[in-house]
Amino acid sequence: MHHHRLLEELPGPRSRPEPPVRLQLAPGLMAVTQTELRARSDGRREAIVLWAGRPTPDGRAVVSHLLLPRFVSSRERLTIPRDERHRLAAWVLEQQLLIFSDLHTHPEQAFLSEADVAAPFSTRDGFYATVIPRFAVGTPGADWRAYEALAGHWQEISIEERFDDIGI
Ligand SMILES: [Zn+2]
Repeated sequence: MHHHRLLEELPGPRSRPEPPVRLQLAPGLMAVTQTELRARSDGRREAIVLWAGRPTPDGRAVVSHLLLPRFVSSRERLTIPRDERHRLAAWVLEQQLLIFSDLHTHPEQAFLSEADVAAPFSTRDGFYATVIPRFAVGTPGADWRAYEALAGHWQEISIEERFDDIGI
């Protein structure tokens, strides 16, 4: 599994913050997320990446890593094979990182589809599913929509309120 690390200095490992989880995004994270999703969608298939990082002492979390798992997808469907999910879980455990959001592309509109609800990456409380429209050809963050898992249900949240872009 490939990844980008965008921060040198990380806070020490600690347990997952209580929702709502405020994410501080590493400088450049939004741009590299959009670039990787665009390249991996290639105008014709869904693609997925993950945001990982560490909780901060003030109850928020910093997103320091962009993870690029292997996936199998078509224009409207995407899965991460079981062996890749296991590799991913082992890697984040070893690195003492937590995954805070998955981010995947749609061919047109961004919304949480029936397929997304039926097979979510995670339904842990406070986990985010972020959807990027038009196979990520737009500018970073444009028309992205994000949903928070709480007690097994998904609620749309305001990206501006939850994701702090701390640099370009
Ligand atoms: Zn979807």
